[in-house]
Amino acid sequence: MFLFQGGSLALRDETPDAGLAQGLPRETVREAFREAFKDLDAFEIPAVDGPGTIYGASLGEKDPLPPGWRTIPVRQGLSLLSAGKTVDGRGPVGRMLRAYHIAQWRRDAAFCGSCGTRNTDAPDELARLCPACGRREYPRISPAVITIILHGDGRALLAHNKKFAPGVYSLIAGFNEAGESLEATVAREIREEVGLEVRDIRYIASQPWPFPNSLMLGFAARHASGEPRPDGVEIEDAQWFSPDKLPQLPGNGSVSRYLINAWLEGKLSFSP
Ligand SMILES: [Zn+2]
Repeated sequence: MFLFQGGSLALRDETPDAGLAQGLPRETVREAFREAFKDLDAFEIPAVDGPGTIYGASLGEKDPLPPGWRTIPVRQGLSLLSAGKTVDGRGPVGRMLRAYHIAQWRRDAAFCGSCGTRNTDAPDELARLCPACGRREYPRISPAVITIILHGDGRALLAHNKKFAPGVYSLIAGFNEAGESLEATVAREIREEVGLEVRDIRYIASQPWPFPNSLMLGFAARHASGEPRPDGVEIEDAQWFSPDKLPQLPGNGSVSRYLINAWLEGKLSFSP
């Protein structure tokens, strides 16, 4: 069972960080939260990467943890567990992320969006069901694109976003707008954030990214025209980098690092 509190996963003190994707025995959680267990938002959902059930529960943001417990931010856990090779949402890490996505969705979908009645769980599928008006609400998944822009001379564009840690450079990303194709999102975000035009936009890989509810779709594109011109709003700096002279990169476990690694390993070359 995965026990969440806000953006963190609750663990026993003696559980090493590396053990967090395995979850905790349900009995352990039930014992530790004997008093509060009935108030926990507990859920069970089918796994999507194979047979099995994923158990999760959420503590209130301010609920005190019993002695012997600690929390670790889910994002920190993700980069700790990932070697940068897999981002496809499978295996223990993928199950932890699925549980986290659903835990947040349950909190955000506590009430019916039409009539305000407290939702229940639909008996027949993974949905919230309004007992008053019958409205069903499904887990929300928001598509976002992230793109590695390749220069004809072998360099790639990396940018520093204001939200990043100091000195970290990564790829250009943004949310898909209603009515927009993913390729159009790629071109628009790049134009808006760094003033470049791109061509040959190509899908590479996707990653469930429940922070809070994204699906990251990773693309590669070729630079067509323009010089990097950071928008100054989100992007503070953007430069072409060659593989032998890189800035600090995002941590493992993200599709951005996966795309950067693929470029460094020569897997993203375009035919001329
Ligand atoms: Zn309703």
